[in-house]
Amino acid sequence: MQKKPSNREKIEQQLMNKKFDMVVIGGGITGAGIALDAATRGMEVVLVEMQDFSAGTSSRSTKLVHGGLRYLKQFEVKMVAEVGKEREVVYENGPHVTTPEWMLLPLHQGGTFGKFSTNIGLRVYDFLAGVKKSERRKMLSKDETLSKEPLIKKDGLKGGGHYVEYRTDDSRLTVEVLKKAVDNGATAINYTKVENFLYDKIGMVEGVEVRNLIAGTVYPIYANTIVNATGPWVDTLRTIDGSKKGKTLQLTKGVHLVIDQSVFPLKQAIYFDTSDGRMVFAIPRDGKTYVGTTDTFYSDDPIHPSMSIEDRDYILGAIKFMFPSVSVSAADVESSWAGVRPLILEDGKDPSEISRKDEIWESESKLITIAGGKLTGYRKMAETVVNLVASRLQEKTGKTFKNCMTKSLPISGGEVGGSKGFSTYIKEVVEKGINAGLSKEDAEKIAKLYGSNAPILYELAKESIGKHEELSPVVLSRIRYAMEYEFAMTPTDILLRRTGMLLFDIDKVQEIKEAVIEYMANYYNWSEERKNILTAELEEEIQKATVPFEGNLIKN
Ligand SMILES: Cc1cc2nc3c(=O)[nH]c(=O)nc-3n(C[C@H](O)[C@H](O)[C@H](O)COP(=O)(O)OP(=O)(O)OC[C@H]3O[C@@H](n4cnc5c(N)ncnc54)[C@H](O)[C@@H]3O)c2cc1C
Repeated sequence: MQKKPSNREKIEQQLMNKKFDMVVIGGGITGAGIALDAATRGMEVVLVEMQDFSAGTSSRSTKLVHGGLRYLKQFEVKMVAEVGKEREVVYENGPHVTTPEWMLLPLHQGGTFGKFSTNIGLRVYDFLAGVKKSERRKMLSKDETLSKEPLIKKDGLKGGGHYVEYRTDDSRLTVEVLKKAVDNGATAINYTKVENFLYDKIGMVEGVEVRNLIAGTVYPIYANTIVNATGPWVDTLRTIDGSKKGKTLQLTKGVHLVIDQSVFPLKQAIYFDTSDGRMVFAIPRDGKTYVGTTDTFYSDDPIHPSMSIEDRDYILGAIKFMFPSVSVSAADVESSWAGVRPLILEDGKDPSEISRKDEIWESESKLITIAGGKLTGYRKMAETVVNLVASRLQEKTGKTFKNCMTKSLPISGGEVGGSKGFSTYIKEVVEKGINAGLSKEDAEKIAKLYGSNAPILYELAKESIGKHEELSPVVLSRIRYAMEYEFAMTPTDILLRRTGMLLFDIDKVQEIKEAVIEYMANYYNWSEERKNILTAELEEEIQKATVPFEGNLIKN
């Protein structure tokens, strides 16, 4: 990805002086996937994001690349088959951001899934998703289930289903996809908001007017096609275009809680029933257990979803219901996050019943909108959108483009020999980290997180040894990498999205936040005013993650 933030001005110059094949609005996983697909087909594409990349829903999911087993109950066979197969593709192209995770589905008397139906359901799932032999489902007896996870409620337990899903870091996945797009010639810029559309004489959209939210400048970007990939905001953009007609979005909010393993020592990922007939995940990760999600209709601004006391208590209740021996109280919630799902409205359905499928809408002005969908299906969604864009571009300009090639294209950091080669790659590259002065443990950590980009971080760490009292070389290498290669512009970009520390290591954030702010302020030469604004923004994010928002109580 482009080095050095000063490139922002250079990039803006290019944006103003050129007509692109496509502008993608929205730097979540959907937009990033489209930018990558388009760039690799030879299109000149620019992606603009009004916040940080992934700051919308794409950093707020359950962080699973999964087929959506529960959608089988709603007979969404096509979606389960397609998304299920995509899990493998996402994994193979980026094993450093996606890891197989055996999931346990405990089966209780009167629960959502019976033993027989689970056996059949998981078999259908394996078949539809084309699951490889070593990862096919196993049915477990009651004792086997309890030996996998002794904390599960014993009362009424009949056994369990054991099957594979994939754990990811949604925000890093998005950024790695985007970096690969940029490596292939795409231009991407964050903190740049589309405020208006520009139209030609016959009312066809031919560009966007954007505002640089850091410098305050406004400028146009022209393109032959415009794609609205703004997730929860797609209707806002359609309203600006005057094309919010027919189908619309229905937002629902989902919250996750993070609890320390010393309080909730879960050793096995669990997908379990709640007392109100929903299903919730509990997943061990980095010394913590995270649990979620809720699913409630949401009508506020999608930019500020946060946990309410009701959300928190619902999840605590669900933990109590399935893990009665675990004593977790509100005070044990270390951190949390909330996101809004951009679902397509289906009248009369409960939030959890609304389909997660995606659709493409094209307005009279030829604005292309991609709505709905899941993180897992991003690549396939991108392929469909870019196929349409390619045909529109051919009609309009006569240009032709290559076919989609993302199915076997490693994302940034993914050049590690696929899932099979990843462990060998780690063993080999760790030597470089050790030679750069890192401990084996630190070198391994970097290799696992950054895959084939690890050597860049090792070099940054080497340059950082002995340079900073409060920030270790490893932390400093991650900060510098985020700023120099991943367009991180604020402390929140780094501590929340590029490193995930704010969610899974909040104590560390409290310890280093001032040093990080100082370091960034120097690097970017911030004014006192900007530094204060960004410090307040970080504090607000910490508050949001740790303290429930009382105001939400009334609205839920
Ligand atoms: C609680 C929860 C759990 C989930 N769990 C999973 C899961 O485990 N697995 C899975 O596959 N899926 C999951 N999903 C779904 C998945 O997270 C979303 O489908 C996906 O992240 C949507 O990505 P997106 O790019 O479409 O939207 P977003 O990530 O929201 O991106 C849209 C972007 O557009 C930007 N934008 C908006 N307006 C403008 C403008 N005017 N100018 C410029 N930029 C603009 C926004 O800032 C935003 O960053 C979950 C969703 C939620 C809410």
